[in-house]
Amino acid sequence: MIHEMRTASPEETQAWGARLGQLLFPGAVIGLDGDLGAGKTCFVKGLAVGLGLDEDEISSPTFTLITEHYRGRLPLYHIDLYRLEGAGIEETGIEEHLAGQGVAAVEWFCFLPVGVVSEYLLVALVFVSEDERMLRLTPYGERYERIVEKLLTA
Ligand code: ADP
Ligand code: MG
Repeated sequence: MIHEMRTASPEETQAWGARLGQLLFPGAVIGLDGDLGAGKTCFVKGLAVGLGLDEDEISSPTFTLITEHYRGRLPLYHIDLYRLEGAGIEETGIEEHLAGQGVAAVEWFCFLPVGVVSEYLLVALVFVSEDERMLRLTPYGERYERIVEKLLTA
């Protein structure tokens, strides 16, 4: 079941991320897709807050593939595949992070080869206007279905 919601500001997008962050379990994988500036990093800041981290810990450094954050309720692995473009995934260590006990938030999830993870929550961010975005949540796997249900009823 796909769920869509509109947000009217970065704060609102971040607030959805924070609500989701509170519901996540060890090993959860959140895939984020959307154009540059769509709000993927903004959403991850929210996830961080929901996990008990400071939003300022999250940034999008130009050449860093993986950033680990350990001060929250669960570890947060912030992964950005933008510069990977599908090549050399084996050498990156990403697969260990995806299989780890933390929460993996993966920007440019579309660059991950098919089949690397089978259960995850896909969050696609789509531009509507300057300050509006559509968030489209697609859960893959029962655990993620339940999380989306909770997110929408909380
Ligand atoms: P990405 O990681 O997808 O490239 P960022 O999160 O880094 O995108 O940047 C999103 C930009 O869009 C920020 O400058 C943010 O302030 C702006 N923005 C405006 N409206 C929204 C919104 N509703 N949700 C998220 N970001 C928004
Ligand atoms: Mg980003």
